[in-house]
This record gives sequence, structure tokens and C-alpha cells, in this order.
Amino acid sequence: MNIHDQTITMLRNYFQSFGENPAKAKIVTRAIYKEHITDFSQITTLSATIRQKLAEDFSFTNLTLITKSETQDTSKYLFGLADGHTIETVLMKHNYGNGVCISTQVGCNMNCVFCESGKLKKVRNLETHEMVQQLLYIRDVLQIPVSHVVLMGIGEPFDNYDNTMAFIDIVTEQAGIDIATRHVTISTSGITPRIIEYANRPVLNSLAISLHAPNDELRNQLMPINKAYPLAPLIEAAKLYTQKSGKKITFAYIMIKDLNDTPDCARQLATLLKDINCYVNLIPYNKTRSTHYEPSSWERIHEFWALLKENGIKVTVRREFGGDMNAACGQLSSDYKGEI
Ligand code: SAH
Repeated sequence: MNIHDQTITMLRNYFQSFGENPAKAKIVTRAIYKEHITDFSQITTLSATIRQKLAEDFSFTNLTLITKSETQDTSKYLFGLADGHTIETVLMKHNYGNGVCISTQVGCNMNCVFCESGKLKKVRNLETHEMVQQLLYIRDVLQIPVSHVVLMGIGEPFDNYDNTMAFIDIVTEQAGIDIATRHVTISTSGITPRIIEYANRPVLNSLAISLHAPNDELRNQLMPINKAYPLAPLIEAAKLYTQKSGKKITFAYIMIKDLNDTPDCARQLATLLKDINCYVNLIPYNKTRSTHYEPSSWERIHEFWALLKENGIKVTVRREFGGDMNAACGQLSSDYKGEI
């Protein structure tokens, strides 16, 4: 077992399983995530016997950095995993802090027609420690402070539910990495049963749904997941989240030329979302290598934005990060073919 798989609750259970005081879980968590130890022998507040047992039961490995590319406000990292697969992580420098965009799977099964990551096919889920270490590498190895986490890299977080939940518990734990709950955003293509399950958790992070179409006919074409989980129940699940969390939900809507950017689409979207406490985030489509779609013109985006606003929908247009270096949303594809 890797130590970065362990939530504080798991560590409490671990200590209890051999009759030790569960409060030691906090000591271990603090040592790893606040004091940045990388070897149990460094936790001198624990007895030698306990340190020895921890070292027998848990390993500390890290990701291997293969390459990185950087522009002024975005860096993209390609990491190697223990089994030879690769994943990508993006660091975005905002004026309010640094955000890390985490991948949750090797490849992705969602097959959204416009998305580069979806062309990869899912190979496997990431283990919790592989998600935690994407953040730790940036925070501890590169020594760059991280204030925000978005689960918007490669993969569908709700198709890797349990590991994603453990990841969230680890990064928000106050005795540990301690990122504010609202500064962690899960983005999902809309796996409705998992949204409902998530909405019933006691503590809720920020949630975004990749919507991209205002009706089932168009969404079925763009996002095959919509055939399994169509819009009406998806919107109900989104409402449940807003009620349980008291927070707004974000709907991401990429603007693809002549496909989902017409005034009619804007009106339909306003009707679909009229009773829900939400933001719409309009994202200019990023042209990718293997898709033939084009971004909407700024005039179209502005018109769409204005129509939503007129209809009482809170709407913003996202500034794109990393578009010039294939590090933008949906352009992560981890297409590295070299040797690790
Ligand atoms: N599977 C999750 C997490 C991935 S987030 C989800 O779908 O939400 C990545 C976001 O980028 C998603 O909203 C996705 O729809 C969007 N995206 C994919 N390709 C894109 C592109 N070429 N330009 C802009 N956004 C894109």
C-alpha cells in the first residue's frame, strides 16, 4: 500500500486494528503533508516500533517527471506511473493563487466527440496516490504553493468514484494538505447516479457539469454518455447538489462554431436552467489535433452570453489557459510515445 492512498479515517482504522491509539493518524498525516517527510524514520514523535511497522506496511513512491512545457501562466507536466503509463497534470497561475488540474484516469471512456482525451480509451483508473502525487510533486518537489485543485484533467472522476473521494478527503484534510473545500472542483460529464451519491456526502466541494448542449438530441451527438443519462434527470441531480450544498453548480458549455452556439441554443439553455442555482461558464472551443470542429466567433459567444443574461442566467466567459501549448481543457492526451 502506498501511504498517499490513506485518508486520515483509513489511518485511524489502521492504528485501531492493532490496538494503537487512532490519534496517531493525525501525527502521521501532519508529518507527511505539513512537514513533508518522505521516510517514516523521520517521525520522531512515534516509537521506533510504530515507525518500523509503518515502514513495513506502507511505501513512499513518487511519480517520475518525464517532460514539462511552460508558458507564462501555464505549465504542463507529463508524469510516468509505476506500470509505465503516463498522465498529464497542468498548473495554472491565477492572480488569486495556483490551481492544479488533476487527471483521474489513464485515458477516458466517455468518448465525447470534441475531446482529445476521449480519443485515448480508458486504460485504467488512477489510484488515489497517483492523484495525490500529481499535486505533491508540484507542491513539494517543485516547491510551488497550490491553493486550488480542479479535477479537469484526463478521465472522468465519477467513473473512478471511490479513489476520487479518497483524493478529495486527503487534499482537504486540515491536518494535511488543507486545501479549502470550495477550492476543490470536481468536473463531470454527467454520470447522474454518481452525482446523486456525491450530493449525499456530508461535505461538498464545488461541482461542475460539462453540459455543452441544451437538448438531448444534440447532447447525444456530442456526448454519448447522454444516451445513458439524459438531461432531465441530470438537471434534477444537479438541483439536488445545489440544495444539499447551498452552493451554485457550474455548467461548462464549450462554444463550437455552428454546432451548439446558435441563438436558439441559448434560449433553450436558458429554459433548461431557469430554476436552478447555477453559473454557466462559456468556453471558446480549443481546436485540437484530431477533431475538425472550430471555435465560435467572439460575436457569437457575446450574443449567446447576452441572451443567457437577458434570461436571468448568471454567465461568464472563461479565459482559456494553455491553448497555445495543448494544455487547455480537453487537449490533454498524454500522447508521449518515448521510453520512461
Ligand atoms: N470528464 C470530466 C472531466 C474532464 S474536464 C468532464 O467531462 O467534465 C475537461 C473539460 O474540457 C470538459 O468540460 C470537456 O468537455 C472540456 N473540453 C474537452 N475538449 C475541449 C476542447 N477541445 N476545448 C475546450 N474544452 C474542451
